[in-house]
Amino acid sequence: MPVLVMKFGGTSVANLDRIRRAAKRVGVEVAKGYDVIVIVSAMSGKTNELVGWVNETSPLYDAREYDAVVSSGENVTAGLMALTLQEMDIPARSWQGWQVPVQTTSAHASARIEDIPPANIEAKFAEGMRVAVVAGFQGVSPEGRITTLGRGGSDTTAVAFAAAFKAERCDIYTDVDGVYTTDPRISSKARKLDKIAFEEMLELASLGAKVLQTRSVELAMRYKVKLRVLSSFEEQSDEAGTLVCDEEEVMENRPVSGIAYSRDEAKMTLISVADRPGIAAAIFGPLSEAGINVDMIIQNIAEDGRTDMTFSCPTEQVARAEKAMEEAKTSGTINYHNLVADTDVAKVSAVGIGMRSQSGVAATMFKTLSDEGINIKVIATSEIKISVLIDRKYMELAVQALHDAFELEKAA
Ligand code: ASP
Ligand code: MG
Repeated sequence: MPVLVMKFGGTSVANLDRIRRAAKRVGVEVAKGYDVIVIVSAMSGKTNELVGWVNETSPLYDAREYDAVVSSGENVTAGLMALTLQEMDIPARSWQGWQVPVQTTSAHASARIEDIPPANIEAKFAEGMRVAVVAGFQGVSPEGRITTLGRGGSDTTAVAFAAAFKAERCDIYTDVDGVYTTDPRISSKARKLDKIAFEEMLELASLGAKVLQTRSVELAMRYKVKLRVLSSFEEQSDEAGTLVCDEEEVMENRPVSGIAYSRDEAKMTLISVADRPGIAAAIFGPLSEAGINVDMIIQNIAEDGRTDMTFSCPTEQVARAEKAMEEAKTSGTINYHNLVADTDVAKVSAVGIGMRSQSGVAATMFKTLSDEGINIKVIATSEIKISVLIDRKYMELAVQALHDAFELEKAA
């Protein structure tokens, strides 16, 4: 029988009533003839509570025990979902990650899935079981310890199962009805997209659109898993939600598909570093070793053999970046006058695969911001994205103005 993966996020399993509603949707797909793999998150708020308990007990916790505690929320929902389905006379059972087994690396709290051998679950499907309910977000390391995949990781569990079982589709049920052209809380003109290309979704996810864990989109793109994001709060239909798919399947022909933002960016400038071969390596090597996610980089004009080097990174990594630079200065590999951190900035980005073939996107973006009197501090571009750093207080305004300028409220 064809396999379908259905993932329910925390708000979709927030209480017993919601679990019942989710189970009904599963029942509809079972009735259509699918063998269903249901991936569940913890009830909403549960994982935060568990993380809080760990931090309170042991601030410098053993990551293996962190995972043992934090993974437990999903176990509860998996069992409850299986019971609910059984009450509906649907043959179902629950699986924790290690029982499948979901084999992962040993990187606790941010493990990667290495393999999901389908044999155990397939054997049960062959015996007549119709639904395998799997606890998302968790797996088992080569050492036999429980691991977790990073916050939001059950999206990744779902896509990995869809790939491993060659599922027809992977439906991600959440509290929004799809992927929007921008955050509807910021622009009331935001429009739900029927389809979005993997590459665009990847940019939007990593730029702060929180619908899907970035890693899940990477996996879906690699294994060509058809991903659908839809609401578990609205009536189901075959066209519901947003399909994340190959770009050939996306019909819209416009340069920009969405405006993303990230509130928590910092702009860091090393004042007066030597302008010599190897300086960038000497700066960004230690930053990368310290695990800093450097995004944008600018090397300013040199004068008298000295230059300023600017980069952006998440605000929460500023202290770590400063420490890495101080250590590099002390050890003599770099020399700079001082390091200025501007933490009152935000990043706003226009994303679209259409940029590859249509010109003038950057010009429109800069003109729009200039008309609003917004100063651009840093610019970075890729093939399908233009990002700017601006003062945080203008972030909402910039998102709205750009959404208007690219006419994203209208279907192309
Ligand atoms: N429960 C986990 C979290 O809150 C995983 C997930 O829901 O995707 O991060
Ligand atoms: Mg999530």
